[in-house]
Amino acid sequence: MFFRALRHFEFFEPKTVAEANELLLSYGHQASVMAGGLSLIQTMKTGEKKPEAVISLQKIDSLKFIDSDNDQDLKIGALATIRSIEKSREVQKHWAVLVQTARCIGSVEVRRMGTVVGNLCDGTPASDLATILIAMGAKMRVTSSGAEREVPLENFCVGPHQTVLEEGEMVREVRVPSLGDHSFASYVNLARTKPDITKVSVGVLVKNQNGACGDVRIAVGAVAPVIVRVRKAEELLRGEKLKASTIEEAARLAQEDVVVRPITDIRSNAGYRKEMVRVLVERALTDVVDKMNGAHAH
Ligand SMILES: Cc1cc2nc3c(=O)[nH]c(=O)nc-3n(C[C@H](O)[C@H](O)[C@H](O)COP(=O)(O)OP(=O)(O)OC[C@H]3O[C@@H](n4cnc5c(N)ncnc54)[C@H](O)[C@@H]3O)c2cc1C
Repeated sequence: MFFRALRHFEFFEPKTVAEANELLLSYGHQASVMAGGLSLIQTMKTGEKKPEAVISLQKIDSLKFIDSDNDQDLKIGALATIRSIEKSREVQKHWAVLVQTARCIGSVEVRRMGTVVGNLCDGTPASDLATILIAMGAKMRVTSSGAEREVPLENFCVGPHQTVLEEGEMVREVRVPSLGDHSFASYVNLARTKPDITKVSVGVLVKNQNGACGDVRIAVGAVAPVIVRVRKAEELLRGEKLKASTIEEAARLAQEDVVVRPITDIRSNAGYRKEMVRVLVERALTDVVDKMNGAHAH
């Protein structure tokens, strides 16, 4: 990878979201938002991004929060770091799967600097957090001068590093639905080494309805330009008990789903990735069964 000297850019540190929105509006597509800067600076060094203005969010204290509204939605502000999620007692208690997922990410240094929202806005299909959060039905709260809108995370990315954000928009927070007592989630991934980016990942959410699957969502990462849901496997599971044979069949349907179209690159090859979709879906669903049976927490 070749790094160039950074070309000249204006640097702004607004103190409020409104100020940030105004700057974003005036610079339009020439502006880049910066949270922790881990991914942004790298893309500026490679020349992939050449913003005229970098708008740092670091001085906006109102974005540094993790809120959990009395056990309702979890709200993660745009400046909450991945490490802060890992360390939060509330998250550990009610969204333990997010802690488990956060620990799959790089090193402690990366998790200390990198924000959850920055990780999601970066728009890589290999994002660990995006895979589990899509399964959990998370929503991005998007703000621009005078307007707010909510975008389901599963519709937020339209290609690698491409999001639906329009000129002047930024993300204020991501909202994660409560799991309550009846929903169970699991995240499993494969990487060459612990600090490396994932080569295949699966996030699963199952709502337990009298011992059978109520709602079920299965997201698969790093097998397509964006993280995908394998809906045929989901359909098969709805209303069914999670028996070993049903899990096996769902995992096979996931592997064969047309949305699963991995590439061969330095981390893995397409055939292996496809095969591992089956293995990981089976593992994640089995883990959910263990959780349902009370073996361990959500
Ligand atoms: C060594 C290393 C290892 C890594 N390993 C992993 C890994 O194993 N798994 C994994 O998932 N990730 C991994 N990452 C990616 C890392 O998690 C992300 O780089 C980091 O979380 C990005 O957060 P940030 O706050 O630094 O974002 P930034 O770099 O500041 O921003 C990233 C992108 O999002 C945009 N953006 C940021 N915040 C907002 C906002 N509020 N609204 C709109 N746009 C916004 C920026 O403009 C930029 O395009 C790794 C990164 C490194 C450097």
